[in-house]
Amino acid sequence: MGNESVGGLRLLRLFGGGQDRERGTPDVNSQADEPSARPSLTAYGVAQKMLLDEISTFLLDNALAVTASNLLAAHSAFSGIDVGLARKILEKQASGTSITQEWLDLNKTPDGMQEGVKKIIGSLEASLETFASTTRTARDAVTTYNSEIKKQVSRATSLDADSALSALGILAREMVSRTENFAAEMKRSEDEAQALRRELDKARHDAEIDHLTGLPNRRAFEAALDRHYRQARQEADHLCVAFCDIDHFKRVNDTHGHDTGDRVIKAIGEALARISDDTCHVARHGGEEFVMLFRGKTTQEAWEKLDAVRENFGSRQFVNRANDNPIGKITFSGGIADVFAHKNPRDALKAADEALYEAKSGGRNQIVLSSPVNTRSHRG
Ligand code: GH3
Ligand code: MG
Ligand code: MG
Repeated sequence: MGNESVGGLRLLRLFGGGQDRERGTPDVNSQADEPSARPSLTAYGVAQKMLLDEISTFLLDNALAVTASNLLAAHSAFSGIDVGLARKILEKQASGTSITQEWLDLNKTPDGMQEGVKKIIGSLEASLETFASTTRTARDAVTTYNSEIKKQVSRATSLDADSALSALGILAREMVSRTENFAAEMKRSEDEAQALRRELDKARHDAEIDHLTGLPNRRAFEAALDRHYRQARQEADHLCVAFCDIDHFKRVNDTHGHDTGDRVIKAIGEALARISDDTCHVARHGGEEFVMLFRGKTTQEAWEKLDAVRENFGSRQFVNRANDNPIGKITFSGGIADVFAHKNPRDALKAADEALYEAKSGGRNQIVLSSPVNTRSHRG
């Protein structure tokens, strides 16, 4: 279903792969070359129809409701506005799993964010327009003033010197007052630009934060991993990555409700954040999954740090704040991989994920160390 869809091919094309003709997708070029086939559709029309087909196939194939927010997300992905989402959809389709509403909500760019950025861009455009018109008016005024001055100066050298001088005085006074106005307008533009820069910084910051836990999100983590990977490789330093996932979390949601589930996600985020510093980054990867980076630590040292959090967290007794019902203990499992034991950070993340899978199948509530040759398990 999903991975067979036209949408998949369109996404593939966004990343430079895929064949249009294989699935009989309308091909813009062939339509343009054969006007007699469909004279009423221009190349632009064909492209628009393709986009619509892709959006509807995507929603129908994945049994997603036709809501404004889903349409917006699908449009962003298939039109190429949200390349990150497009890539994630492609990965999901390649893995053969269908896309759920929960997954889409978690992975799409929040509408609020898009609106916020759109608003800033709108204000920026308006500000630039005002600034351009101020400078245009200033330039015109200076040009007029210059030609008037030239006229009066040539009169001043002729017989009518007195009246030329008084005309020059009037001109100068007028120019002084105009210059003051221009200066005030320029200052206003400058203040607006500064306020917009602050808003833009905030929007950039918001785009990297997970709103539930306040932790960095996957996007921010990937940037940090990239940075540390380059530095650690240059300095021959250790670098490991880890995945953590709450055990039997679905049961918490099913028994105590989604809001309590959210509070558990926050609690585990806080526990992991406590060991976070300049050399240890924690981020919410999505859902009830966290991803970590340990710089300057061997896998064994990273394991010890993470296992201490696991042990401490697993010993706590949780209570449902809404009704004081006991939830009991909540545990999590983890997988760790040495980044430099793999071709690239992406492969290391995959190895950590596989180690996490081993921790789950090995009974949960444990952290497993991955090694490319053999995987050792450290049980908690
Ligand atoms: P396992 O021990 O194998 O990890 O089992 P699990 O039940 O934790 O794993 P599964 O992947 O089956 O369930 C994860 C659940 O997490 C499913 C989904 O409803 C829930 N979930 C994902 N994101 C959120 C969220 O933001 N808030 C809440 N409350 N639940 C979420
Ligand atoms: Mg999970
Ligand atoms: Mg889980």
